[in-house]
Amino acid sequence: MDGTTTPAATNRRIDGKRLWDSLMEMAAIGATPKGGVRRLALSGVDREGRDRFRALCEAAGLRVRVDGIGNMFARREGTDPGRPPVLFGSHLDSQPSGGKFDGALGVMAGLEVMRTLDDLGLRTEAPLELVNWTDEEGARFGRSLMGSGVWAGVYDPATVETAQDLDGTTVGAALDAIGYRGTEPARPFPADSYFELHIEQGPILEREGKQLGVVTGAQAQVWWDLVATGQDSHAGTTPPDARRDALVCAARVVDLVDRMMRARGDAGRGTVGQMQVLPNSRNVIPGEVRFTAEFRHPDEAEIGRLAVQFPREAGFIARDCGVRLELTELLRMPAQPFDPACVDLVRQASARLGYSTREIVSGAGHDAVYVARHVPTAMIFTPCKDGLSHNEAESIEPGEAAAGCQVLFEAVVARACGMADHSGRGVPQR
Ligand SMILES: [Zn+2]
Repeated sequence: MDGTTTPAATNRRIDGKRLWDSLMEMAAIGATPKGGVRRLALSGVDREGRDRFRALCEAAGLRVRVDGIGNMFARREGTDPGRPPVLFGSHLDSQPSGGKFDGALGVMAGLEVMRTLDDLGLRTEAPLELVNWTDEEGARFGRSLMGSGVWAGVYDPATVETAQDLDGTTVGAALDAIGYRGTEPARPFPADSYFELHIEQGPILEREGKQLGVVTGAQAQVWWDLVATGQDSHAGTTPPDARRDALVCAARVVDLVDRMMRARGDAGRGTVGQMQVLPNSRNVIPGEVRFTAEFRHPDEAEIGRLAVQFPREAGFIARDCGVRLELTELLRMPAQPFDPACVDLVRQASARLGYSTREIVSGAGHDAVYVARHVPTAMIFTPCKDGLSHNEAESIEPGEAAAGCQVLFEAVVARACGMADHSGRGVPQR
């Protein structure tokens, strides 16, 4: 930090109104009649959002560069050229009928952090980089956390580039079409830390009347595709003992998922979200049902147990129903704890500013989860109305946005002005 003294944390205020205005400015790009946004990744509307973001960053004196998967990094130099940057940001793409704040909050709050530093005439020791990750939502190309996933080495760039949307447009073609295929390779570079402010997308903070969530990590997940195969037969002529009803089997498996979830108390999550019944005729006993199942839990060991228990118990149900059940495990994601020192900065800043908080494990996937594989990471959650997200009615209060942004500011400045250790932690091994 320039100067000999660091001003007291509470004297450095972000501008809540300017933050809100910038959120509304971004929300106008791809605005839907019901008050949400439709800014699908790498679409023309996404380009508009990106162009606007770039212009706002350049107006704030930031240098913007773009990597090979379209991730945008807006840099503010520090006083110590030897230090790796403190990163912060989120994503500007949205679901097809998404809300104004999912992702945009973290990006525009990051811009507000930069603008506040300008207002205060402060230069941090470490450089700062505000990130807009490409295609967090996965709504268009079917791969969520795409930009951060490629950057972190979770996804192979060549494979991702050929992924297609429903019209057959590839990621590579879409990047070229909007002019956001950058020259810098998308891979981890040495960074001090990463902070992401995001709406909770769930009801816990609001229910408990907390202003902010101190996110300690993301939960482990396991996903399956299931196919139950019985026999199509006449609804009127087939007696009970002759039925091999694939839908009865699937329905009992849905109940099994719910029971296994509830047996794990408050932390349990288990969902069957998709089901296709064949032949789907009112007078035919269903011979085939294709469906999905997933469990999530903060404790990875619990997911390990579920990954064994669920297929076994689902198998017993299928046998009872005279149905063949195939399970394919699609994805097993480990729990991702965030960096204790970064999480503590968020905790301390919130306490110093007098905000009520709660420690929370992220139920959703976020770019931060992949970034955390290479860079010490923490997240801040703000409540959202009725816990509603991925919905045009998604809503937060200006004061909630400002509180989250203020904590982001404090955490970033603390980290960038000398609280980082210089042991090289956070520098990825090439
Ligand atoms: Zn998001």
